[in-house]
Amino acid sequence: MPNTKSKRDDTHQCEKCLPAYCCNYFAFGIDEPEDRRDYESLLWKIAHENTSIYIYRQDWFIMIHNRCNFLMPDNKCAIYDHRPYMCREHSTESCEYTGDDYGFTEHFKSYDDLLIYIKENTKFRFKHGPTGVGPNCL
Ligand code: SF4
Ligand code: SF4
Repeated sequence: MPNTKSKRDDTHQCEKCLPAYCCNYFAFGIDEPEDRRDYESLLWKIAHENTSIYIYRQDWFIMIHNRCNFLMPDNKCAIYDHRPYMCREHSTESCEYTGDDYGFTEHFKSYDDLLIYIKENTKFRFKHGPTGVGPNCL
């Protein structure tokens, strides 16, 4: 994921990233919401702990914030030699540590974040206001 504000450090960068940011979540693409039911479905999803939703450029994603079981206490990967391709291909040049944010267009960290976005950016009317619950992540 691209970042514009780089603090790239070729020497032991990952050792300074505690705990390894890129090993503490996974994300997958979802369909862009089109109608009220779609938005209600996303509100339901983000009502769950450790869940956020983001838009990167035009694409929507769900992000689950939880730690990989193979991230060891010393911040190293227990299966490094046979880690999955997503890990092998993850670049340290433009990663979660080297920028101040993920470069997202929008990042909804709570039910309220998404609810406010819906109210301000769509025609769908939700009568209830912010709940005060969350955020689900930093
Ligand atoms: S690749 Fe980036 S986010 Fe992942 S552990 Fe290294 S510095 Fe941290
Ligand atoms: S498999 Fe290893 S590199 Fe990949 S997320 Fe887990 S701890 Fe990180």
